[in-house]
Amino acid sequence: MNRIVVLGAGESGVGAAILAKKKGFEVFVSDKGTIKPTYKNVLSQHEISFEEGKHSEAAILSAREVVKSPGIPDHIPMIKKIKEQGIRVISEIEFAGRYTGATMICITGSNGKTTTTLLTYHILKNGGLNVGLGGNVGQSFAWQVARHNFDYYVLEVSSFQLDGMFDFKADIAVLLNITPDHLDRYNNSFERYIQSKMRITQNQTHNNALIYCIDDETINNEIKGKSWQQRLYPFSTYEKIEGEGAYLAGNKILFNVNSQTFHMTIEELALQGRHNIHNSMAAGIASRLVELRKNTIKQCLSDFQNVEHRLEHVANIHGIEFINDSKATNINATWYALESAEKPVVWIVGGIDKGNDYSKLMELVKEKVKAIVCLGVDNHRIHEAFDKAVETIIDTSSANEAVGSAYYLSTPGDMILLSPACASFDLFENYEDRGNQFKQAVSKL
Ligand code: ADP
Repeated sequence: MNRIVVLGAGESGVGAAILAKKKGFEVFVSDKGTIKPTYKNVLSQHEISFEEGKHSEAAILSAREVVKSPGIPDHIPMIKKIKEQGIRVISEIEFAGRYTGATMICITGSNGKTTTTLLTYHILKNGGLNVGLGGNVGQSFAWQVARHNFDYYVLEVSSFQLDGMFDFKADIAVLLNITPDHLDRYNNSFERYIQSKMRITQNQTHNNALIYCIDDETINNEIKGKSWQQRLYPFSTYEKIEGEGAYLAGNKILFNVNSQTFHMTIEELALQGRHNIHNSMAAGIASRLVELRKNTIKQCLSDFQNVEHRLEHVANIHGIEFINDSKATNINATWYALESAEKPVVWIVGGIDKGNDYSKLMELVKEKVKAIVCLGVDNHRIHEAFDKAVETIIDTSSANEAVGSAYYLSTPGDMILLSPACASFDLFENYEDRGNQFKQAVSKL
């Protein structure tokens, strides 16, 4: 039997289907929702049969293997049935990994994946390597494996992708941080989520590398006391790393990788804020491990263009700075946004709260936030957390209203920061829509 069924016809599913077809499988794609017209066209062009609006059991259960898109949770009845039949359910990255011999740099973490993936790709590309970019960012990995012949891939890997990865091996794995997120998909168990993230290290041997943030307590606990075959490259902004890795001493980042040392100052980095020092360290170590020259790495860490919606400078109006950090959909990301603020902050926060522990932000809020503008349908948890700590907290329900109120509450020298710590679906289509509406509202002032 040579049949592959792909569940979910988004970027990763369509990519997997194309690759499977190219490799000679009989392919069937099933999506319970509606499939975007562009993807339908692509599937038709490749003569791949598909259905939408349903999952036809017979057509699915005759598969040899099922490639499941990361958006589909494991607990839905269809997936349970597939597993009961003994059919293997894998992710697109597991599937595509079988068909390339490229060196794989795989980046995971609760926050910073996209930034670090793009930064690492920027360095490798400028260093002249034949490199592809994939995973959760840009075009799917499988689609690229079907089309190109890259020597290297830089892949952003989410925990949902990792859950469907079994034999895949990252030549270079990057683990940025592990903080609570998406726990609804993990039976509300942080432990399960941690084990999902740690799968980035599976199958690695002594020829492989694990780059990780030693400042993250959870990661530290996972690494400590276990024996690791792969070479370890810790990085830290707080403590000195004795062996190979990277650390911060004063304002200098010191890299020691592949028997070579080099340094640069944090002011030279394109991306500012402590979290971005972490991201830059990780990208720098990974790039040195593929033998890029230190000058190329330094140059690229300083000329990288920031990614939209991540601590993005929007405008300076009458001495008030506007920052769009719409991608901050959890507490940890917002913690770093507030930590990096060097001016009094009028903070726009709110949306769909995934069980946030706001007390983690309390110290920074007390120190830096002069007013809070809630932007969400239900803001009661934000009020509960901060009503006593911050004098002014107001409710708004559109980007225009939030920006207008924040502007009214600020004075020259302040910073208006949209860093919501929440998902966006109550008032917006997604975080990009929220960020774009914020920027439009600012441009209208
Ligand atoms: P991801 O792809 O993991 O969601 P992004 O690079 O898109 O990560 O960034 C998401 C949010 O997290 C942004 O608000 C960004 O400023 C913040 N962030 C980026 N890197 C880190 C990091 N290393 N630690 C914590 N927060 C980070």
